[in-house]
Amino acid sequence: MATSKPRISFEYFPPKTAEGREKLLQVTTPALNALDPAFFSVTYGAGGTTRDTTCGVVSTMRASGIDVAPHLSFGGDDEAAVGALIDTYVERGINRLVALRGDMPSGMGGASQLVYANELVAFIRERSGDHFHIEVAAYPEIHPEASSYDSDIRYLKGKLDAGANSAITQYFFNVEAYFYFLDRCNAAGIDKPIYAGIMPIINFTNLARFSRNCGAEIPRWICQRIEGFGNDQASIRSFGIEVVTQLCQTLLDSGAPGIHFYTMNQVEPTREIYRNLGL
Ligand code: FAD
Repeated sequence: MATSKPRISFEYFPPKTAEGREKLLQVTTPALNALDPAFFSVTYGAGGTTRDTTCGVVSTMRASGIDVAPHLSFGGDDEAAVGALIDTYVERGINRLVALRGDMPSGMGGASQLVYANELVAFIRERSGDHFHIEVAAYPEIHPEASSYDSDIRYLKGKLDAGANSAITQYFFNVEAYFYFLDRCNAAGIDKPIYAGIMPIINFTNLARFSRNCGAEIPRWICQRIEGFGNDQASIRSFGIEVVTQLCQTLLDSGAPGIHFYTMNQVEPTREIYRNLGL
């Protein structure tokens, strides 16, 4: 059983339009902030494509007193550009980062040009010392490009040894995959917290496509159940909330240190799941 209050955090992506940004900052953020999360995080577009929007959203949130972590990767940028962005975050009072290798957007080259997350973590530490609490990514069902289960855990350890404080997982629906992964990480000498990343079921078609790309398995029984609902969106929604609430409850009851919700910039269903958990 978890003995202390689990850490809860909420992830956004930077909106593409001025209206989307306004809604995120004026409507979504106050509603989710009322749930008293440890922090928010804002993703960084593949290849650095959202450099300005990510920086803009986190700066505005931070200026209103909210604890927020920009995601960061080298993308196609050089050390001068990434270093300048890190300096900007320091100046603006941001003290958390999520450090990633990231992916190249399609058409912009392959993974060979990307800088591994452990190198980025080392770069951030060299540039800014202990200023930031750094999170890295972890994959209970293993990163799709990993050469093996054990090597992926070795590289996760490398990111944490380079100076990251904790990890957040890719989303998953198989609770056994997460706890088995924690056991293997522990056996490999990892002693830093690995928070569970949880994706509420919002748009099943998009979720199924995205899951194929990122290597997250949606169990057959969930797919079958949702397909059985056809176009009945209300039933899909309530089944999705029930399944994800149960997943989170099992995680917390079994000692997961906390949950990072991939909110998809929506208040519901994250808030409903959160309330179901009695947090
Ligand atoms: P790395 O840890 O660098 O690993 C990448 C691959 O290389 C793995 O297969 C690993 O086994 C292997 N590897 C790692 N280190 C080494 C090494 N030193 N030498 C050789 N091989 C190595 N993507 C975005 O574009 N923007 C985001 O904001 C974003 N946020 C995310 C947040 C979370 C919590 C998670 C879980 C993922 C996020 N992603 C994001 C997706 C992520 O960028 C991709 O999964 C990407 O393919 C890998 O990034 P990473 O930091 O895990 O890479």
